[in-house]
Amino acid sequence: MSETECLRCKICTAAVTQIGVRRGTFKDRLFKIFRCNTCGFIFVGNPWLDYKEIYSEAYYKGQGADRFVDYVFELRNPTRTIRQYEWRGIAQVVRSCIPLGSDTRWLDFGCGNGGLVRYCREHLPCSVWGYEQGWIRDQAVNLGIPIVTEEVLDSAAGTFDVVTAIEVIEHIADPVGELRRIRSLLKPGGLLFITTGNAAPHRERLFEWGYFLPEVHISLFEPGTLAQAFKESGFRAEFRGYSPGFDDIIRFKVLKSLGVHTTSLAEKVLPWKLLSRAADKKSRVTAHPVGWAE
Ligand SMILES: [Zn+2]
Repeated sequence: MSETECLRCKICTAAVTQIGVRRGTFKDRLFKIFRCNTCGFIFVGNPWLDYKEIYSEAYYKGQGADRFVDYVFELRNPTRTIRQYEWRGIAQVVRSCIPLGSDTRWLDFGCGNGGLVRYCREHLPCSVWGYEQGWIRDQAVNLGIPIVTEEVLDSAAGTFDVVTAIEVIEHIADPVGELRRIRSLLKPGGLLFITTGNAAPHRERLFEWGYFLPEVHISLFEPGTLAQAFKESGFRAEFRGYSPGFDDIIRFKVLKSLGVHTTSLAEKVLPWKLLSRAADKKSRVTAHPVGWAE
């Protein structure tokens, strides 16, 4: 039996088809790319799983598989980095979904440098923690950002009102397994807000999609795929579409893709309400659902 026949979709277990191979631009090897015929899930069938090598100090400095990563600068320059737009936008989107008060418990799952955690603790009334592993975790902890350990996380099952996972799920080889873990951390009725690229507009030209980095972005979703993954892991999917916080989230994405690192007067005078909407018409990142813990 060939490898193609052995593989099933990791979301819906239906048959998958190998749609091609892609050579890594950072790791010089061939990655086999599969697509589910039923739910549209796209994944690397032979992912590079040496996490220590992938998510090294160099990766977080933008010298690894994703050249747009700028985590060390963001950690040290929270008031200069363009990332602050994303933090502000996420806070606004979450607040539009669920009331935030002093008793709200929020976990940023896969928090990277903890920048969102720090921003939310400074600007929102709720209690916010992060969860992360590896080199970047230690950098954030050294600056006093509260990032919980695996043991603390396990002991906090069923206690969170909000979990965010910002640009995390595309890095995960077993998305449903990880979503089930996130579900176990939430209270019933809790909110999961994730961001990830939308593969649907790139269906015909997937291999030309700049987001598709086979070394690190190994699981790609269309909105229906994500809804299916939510269903498999104990969430109700809700499609809320574009809300005002996305002006800032997409503003960050656009600036990042242009190689901009710091805020400036030149970008501040641009009409971001219009530009972000226009960018979303192409990328359609706001078509993804949020998840409500059932
Ligand atoms: Zn599927």
